[in-house]
Amino acid sequence: MFIMKKLEEVILSHGKVLGKDILKVDSFLNHQIKPKLIKEMGEEFAEHFKDKNINKILTVESSGIAPAVITGLVLDCDVVFARKQKSLTTDDNTFSSTCYSYTKEEMKRLIVSKDYLHENDNVLLIDDFLANGQAAKAMVAICKQAGANVAGVGIVIEKSYQDGRKLLDDMGIDVYSLARISHMNGKEIEFID
Ligand code: 5GP
Repeated sequence: MFIMKKLEEVILSHGKVLGKDILKVDSFLNHQIKPKLIKEMGEEFAEHFKDKNINKILTVESSGIAPAVITGLVLDCDVVFARKQKSLTTDDNTFSSTCYSYTKEEMKRLIVSKDYLHENDNVLLIDDFLANGQAAKAMVAICKQAGANVAGVGIVIEKSYQDGRKLLDDMGIDVYSLARISHMNGKEIEFID
């Protein structure tokens, strides 16, 4: 629980709002990484999902990897990261799904090797941000292709005023976000408690 307050404080002190809707958190999550902070994030995800029998974590390269690895360490399970490809070519031995990249403003294909995702997997999805839910939806689609179950979604920073949270709620998925932003306006950032 303590990490959630701490994360809000770090977002307020180090986050920069770009334009209307992009929060830049390069100093601890998206470029430079603060290991102690990430460790607490992973421990919080693991605590929340500990009774769900998760045997695999799926995230997206690159910023989801750090919190996903800590969560996997605590839950003692493997972590797979979906690779992002700009090209539309796919390998035969992969599951894949396209999604619109919120920050790059282009379509990306997420790819996971069939070697690392199976029908008996019970998967926790982890990502750094939840905006319109396109990355999470693509990860859910990849799990579906594999026949794997999605046990839940862990998000570091959710922008609750965008469409992603509702999209995942409507799919009946347990979403656990460490920081939930209700509103961003210039330098002002407000949270849902
Ligand atoms: P969605 O797919 O939910 O629309 O957007 C989530 C993805 O876009 C995340 O994987 C993240 O990389 C990126 N993203 C969305 N909003 C933000 C933001 O405000 N700041 C940063 N740094 N990344 C974001």
